[in-house]
Amino acid sequence: MTDGFATRAIHAGQEPDPTTGSVITPIHATSTYAQDGVGNQRQGYEYSRTGNPTRSALEECLASLEGGKYGRAFASGMSATDAVLRATLRPGDHLIIPDDAYGGTFRLIDKVLTGWGIDYTPAPVTDVDAVRAAIRPNTKVIWTETPTNPLLNIADLPALAQLAHDTTTRLVVDNTFASPHLQQPLEFGASIVVHSTTKYLGGHSDVVGGAVITSDDEIADQVAFLQNTAGAVPGPFDAWLTLRGLKTLAVRMERHSRNAENLVAALRDHPKVARVFYPGLEDHPGHQVAAKQMRHFGGMVSFTHVDGEQAALDACARTRLFTLAESLGGVESLIEHPGRMTHASTAGSLLQVPAELIRVSVGIEESEDLVTDLLSALE
Ligand SMILES: *Cc1c(COP(=O)(O)O)cnc(C)c1O
Repeated sequence: MTDGFATRAIHAGQEPDPTTGSVITPIHATSTYAQDGVGNQRQGYEYSRTGNPTRSALEECLASLEGGKYGRAFASGMSATDAVLRATLRPGDHLIIPDDAYGGTFRLIDKVLTGWGIDYTPAPVTDVDAVRAAIRPNTKVIWTETPTNPLLNIADLPALAQLAHDTTTRLVVDNTFASPHLQQPLEFGASIVVHSTTKYLGGHSDVVGGAVITSDDEIADQVAFLQNTAGAVPGPFDAWLTLRGLKTLAVRMERHSRNAENLVAALRDHPKVARVFYPGLEDHPGHQVAAKQMRHFGGMVSFTHVDGEQAALDACARTRLFTLAESLGGVESLIEHPGRMTHASTAGSLLQVPAELIRVSVGIEESEDLVTDLLSALE
């Protein structure tokens, strides 16, 4: 019998240490490992770029949480993304990306990969027909995110997986915004899941990291080869912090989602709010799909201010509990202005976001305090 999600988050890959009984996986701060004879390693470890026991515990736990066979931990979400792109694409290949892709992913593909002979087409994640229409004979990857950033668009994962299957391409899902507690893309037929563990998985805004999870043997080997060859690995302390964060993922995601729902309810009726973007709202265009593939609707909320850009900027500067900062997914609430901050680079492009848009990462503080703080900042 498989244990439930919250149990695996605490125990998967984390038996008490066999030599000391230490309940918590030790931080194996070592670069190398003694051998009992030439080529005779004690536990399969020889050098910490290639493998480290703290990192192995994290990798096993991540694989378990996403329901995959293999997990690989990276030094950042971007290095995990880079490894997946290099494991799946060759010069002359083509991929499809969301037309509102995470900015760092877009930059890596647009500024780096195109220089190595890889071509891409942006398509809306909400429109399976548009994705199908963008497929070419040399398309190898359909890259998607759901919910997307910052407008919380929803991709239909089973439909995209079916499309990938029919066209012998691979569906890769950046699952950072949902976390495996809310949504497990491999279960819907995706080939590969990517995470910025910096966000909900670490959960405390104290570590940068990334992960790749797959059940495909060939991809797993390729990604492990790149992890060792290019060496963008997390150190043992970073791996340990992320493992520590994972233990509370289930309770945090429940609370993030509940606090977000309460905040959305208050924002909806507020005279200074024009529109709220949250997949939990019944009139959100992706609501039905989100309700089918997600356990809850998550902790990210965006909304527009009725009085325009300056009013939105002023509101961002007036909160007391919501800290004005980029990033997301930590226990503390954050607020930001996408047009001037996380999405400033999209100005003038198709991906440009509304100037009066505000994005919040709803933390796990007392729900009423968050509502009071944000509403008073809007006055
Ligand atoms: C933050 C983020 C990334 C990049 O991760 P880093 O850990 O910052 O390198 C990738 N995708 C999404 C959706 C993100 O939010």
